[in-house]
Amino acid sequence: KTVILNLAKLNYDHQIDLSPISALTTVTAYDSSSPEEIIERLQGQDIAITKELPMGKDLIAQFPPSIRLICEAGTGFNNIDLDAAREKGITVCNVPGYSTEGVAHLAITFILNHSSSLSRQQIMLSRKNFVNFTEHLTVPHFEVNGKTLGVIGGGAIGREVMKVAVALGMDILVYDPIPRDWGNPRIQSASLEDLLRQSDFVTLHCPLLPETRHLINKERLSLMKPTAYLVNTSRGPLVKEADLIEALQQGKIAGAALDVHEVEPLSPDSPLFTLDNVVLTPHIGWQRLESRQRLFKLMAGNIEAFLKG
Ligand code: NAD
Repeated sequence: KTVILNLAKLNYDHQIDLSPISALTTVTAYDSSSPEEIIERLQGQDIAITKELPMGKDLIAQFPPSIRLICEAGTGFNNIDLDAAREKGITVCNVPGYSTEGVAHLAITFILNHSSSLSRQQIMLSRKNFVNFTEHLTVPHFEVNGKTLGVIGGGAIGREVMKVAVALGMDILVYDPIPRDWGNPRIQSASLEDLLRQSDFVTLHCPLLPETRHLINKERLSLMKPTAYLVNTSRGPLVKEADLIEALQQGKIAGAALDVHEVEPLSPDSPLFTLDNVVLTPHIGWQRLESRQRLFKLMAGNIEAFLKG
């Protein structure tokens, strides 16, 4: 028996076919669940499917013994206390790779959006200041070919970003603790500091871990070129948002595009909303229709493998 605890986060448009999972187990689905409802709804269930619901030590300690498997419907599983799950003999599985292209192509979209000044032109036009229309001459507008892209985290998404960026004629610097042959002379490994100093764009594709929290802070931002642009489609807390806001307000870097935020949803009071050199999306990297359908197929594969032992 499987319970989906927050289906509305996954199937808000009712376009996703749940049959890959319902063909394997009896599925009960709820649009959303509070911590109290989670405990209530897990009673008598074997498998719990969650999308980013916080499952800390105290909550997991209250899970009924029937629960054998938690399926995180996503790549990152920093919302689940793995030690607490292990202690209760609960297996946790995630789904890597279901939205690799979607996230990578969002990062590329942010890069091209900045270089083509698309959002800035839109903002200026929407102010309808056609009489004194010289502002458009002042915003960055340039070709990406020949520019340097710094990729922090050369995993699945980072590599897809590199593939497209190389096709666009960019040179790539990669920082990843696991050294690899990137298979293209335009892609070179670099230290984090060298990458930050030399890149025209910096894009984050590493996981959120204790050692990567606030990886981008005041000190690291100060290494970046004043013309450099930061893209974060990975996890909000990789960036110390207060330091980024200060750097953006003081023109220490040219701008930023953020799909993820230190606290989500982003507070309506955030100064980020007031900055013309910032593009914001509400954590949509994983959400493309095909990605969500792939997610359910891959989750069904995890459940099938678990049921087969
Ligand atoms: P992946 O595991 O394939 O790659 C992660 C890479 O980061 C690995 O190569 C790893 O060696 C590297 N890494 C680990 N520690 C590092 C560090 N300290 N500094 C630099 N690199 C480090 O994961 P992926 O599929 O490429 O996904 C990357 C991240 O993207 C995920 O962790 C997730 O948080 C995020 N993500 C976001 C969305 C979204 O909706 N915006 C969707 C999916 C994934």
